[in-house]
Amino acid sequence: MSTQYASKEMIRVEEALDRALGIIEPLEAERVSLTECGGRVLAQDIASDVDIAAFDNSAMDGFALRFEDIQAASAENPITLPIAGHLGAGSVYEGSLEAGKAIRIMTGAPLPQGADTVVKIENVEVIGESEACPAGAEVRIGATDKAPKRGDNVRLRGEEAKAGDVLLCAGERLTPAAVGLIASGGTAQVPVYRQPRVAVFSMGSELTSAAETPKPGQIRDSNGPALAAAAQEAGALVTLVPHIEDSREALRSTFQELAHKQKYDLVVLSGGAAEGDFDFTASVIREMGEILFNKVCMRPGKAQTLGVIDGVPVFGLPGNPAAAVVGFEVLVRPLLRKMQGFVAAPRPVVKARVTQDIKKREPRRFYLRARLEREASGELVVTPAKNQSSALLSSSHASNCLLILPEGLNPATAGDVVDCVCVNITEGEVV
Ligand code: AMP
Ligand code: MG
Repeated sequence: MSTQYASKEMIRVEEALDRALGIIEPLEAERVSLTECGGRVLAQDIASDVDIAAFDNSAMDGFALRFEDIQAASAENPITLPIAGHLGAGSVYEGSLEAGKAIRIMTGAPLPQGADTVVKIENVEVIGESEACPAGAEVRIGATDKAPKRGDNVRLRGEEAKAGDVLLCAGERLTPAAVGLIASGGTAQVPVYRQPRVAVFSMGSELTSAAETPKPGQIRDSNGPALAAAAQEAGALVTLVPHIEDSREALRSTFQELAHKQKYDLVVLSGGAAEGDFDFTASVIREMGEILFNKVCMRPGKAQTLGVIDGVPVFGLPGNPAAAVVGFEVLVRPLLRKMQGFVAAPRPVVKARVTQDIKKREPRRFYLRARLEREASGELVVTPAKNQSSALLSSSHASNCLLILPEGLNPATAGDVVDCVCVNITEGEVV
């Protein structure tokens, strides 16, 4: 790190993200098992060691046969073939299917040599078959729901991939289907980017913990647990460090300990970020390392500080709980995602119509906690939470998006289309 930015300047969110992402690289790759890799990002291309499927096989339960033997079958002139065998998935038919015969076959079983078509069980009549005495049974093929064609109900070898084909590329996110493909292709230990180790702590002499009864003047530390949850949701391995009092020494020694030997990939602090009498974050980081920014043109929470101490990025979020959560979403989450190999972009952004006028008497970019909903007409609409106080976590909890009002003094009028960053969208949401 060589750039020391002028730390008092207020910079735009994009500039802050550029500076921050500029010092973050994806972490090293590690190999994890197939049951641990879901949702992570591949660090290397994955090729298949076999054809997938490895052999032609039946797509249906039914009868494998030669197409020319049943080509002329009709309701008036059904064709009857003796059943020469019974084949389940996992078994291989020894030898070749004789002309004029059929083999009872289950889904996934290899197509016997000589057969080229499968007629599904629903379209045939089986005569004389019993479990005790399968020999002598016959299958009668008459009218079918669709005229049979050569190759019906046969899945071909290599339909999904050929041996040596790249199944998935480095940088791809591992969906459940991708994990299945990797398993099919013969990789049991999957190369993915490592999860970041993140230390989270709070600073404030007023703080006590959830397990304590607050004394007069005290409040419980809600930011520590909230930001730990946010970092976990972003894919990090989180250590919640006990909160510290407002003191330069306490902050210095906590930073020293957490940045030591690069034990953590990122340190996240809340509180002490503004310019009050006990707000030391920026000045202590400046003493110990470098500052990339400490004021961002956004609301809530312009006091967003990023620095580097002993090679470890250190992020100072505002103390106000909602400002901390929004600051994390906008400026910290993208860093954690980039470390894990995700594309450095915000979460999905959708356009929606605002349901009411929104005043804007302040030029900073607004991130309003809001709810997106789909109207009966199919239109996406968004309503900001009534109380946008940055002290309130309940407004964040009740929201499923951040409604963005761009820099400047342009208010929004009911019916205007605005950008909304989707957060907290899960089961039960209709958007
Ligand atoms: P600060 O950024 O330290 O000036 O804090 C701004 C406001 O957020 C104050 O009302 C603090 O009491 C409150 N606050 C700071 N840290 C926390 C925290 N960890 N948990 C809950 N509230 C906090
Ligand atoms: Mg404070």
